[in-house]
Amino acid sequence: MPTRKYINRMIAGFKGFHAYYYEQRGELFESLTTEGQRPPIMLIGCSDSRVDPAIMLHFEPGDVFTVRNVANLIPAYEPHGPHAGVCAALEFGVRDLVVSHIVVLGHSQCGGIHELIRLARQTTDDDREFLASWVSIGTQAVERHAERIKEINASDPNATREIEQTAVALSISNLMTYPWIAERVHHERLTLHGWWADLRVGELWGLNQDSGKFEKLC
Ligand SMILES: [Zn+2]
Repeated sequence: MPTRKYINRMIAGFKGFHAYYYEQRGELFESLTTEGQRPPIMLIGCSDSRVDPAIMLHFEPGDVFTVRNVANLIPAYEPHGPHAGVCAALEFGVRDLVVSHIVVLGHSQCGGIHELIRLARQTTDDDREFLASWVSIGTQAVERHAERIKEINASDPNATREIEQTAVALSISNLMTYPWIAERVHHERLTLHGWWADLRVGELWGLNQDSGKFEKLC
């Protein structure tokens, strides 16, 4: 008999959510359900269990339209291409919800980036059917560090930091290949942000899009 403890914890969690958002602050969901959502922010984060954007950035319901995938990657613009899930979310977030900010949130010790490094070294697990194809979106990020990639100890967070950050910067430049994103950015109706969280010390770093370097935000 499988344990029900995790199921019971989730149901108790929903009861807590109900007590706070429906009993104490009923007006929030009343407005979100009658008027609809109008989130000002879209966030692309990693599926990693340690980097829930709502917890890390203290979002409330209605604040952020979120996509999470392995290694928070965004493919370059390719209509009818193989990665339509994330592209459909981008299209809906930008063209229908009309968000004014897109945040790509990367993080330290990212398993997806480890997979990308293994792929570059050709030491990836052969029996994985989807991972290599997905993380290969970030191939250019490892190519920029091609000379170091062979020596990198993938379990050393300091060694993988640059590749994680470069992958975030690559996703930001890939965002600009979508014509309806580039057009809004040029008219200052949309701002792109590349962020990276250091999980070991609890720091948030941001991409300076002029210098191409990451700077500590807090
Ligand atoms: Zn990750």
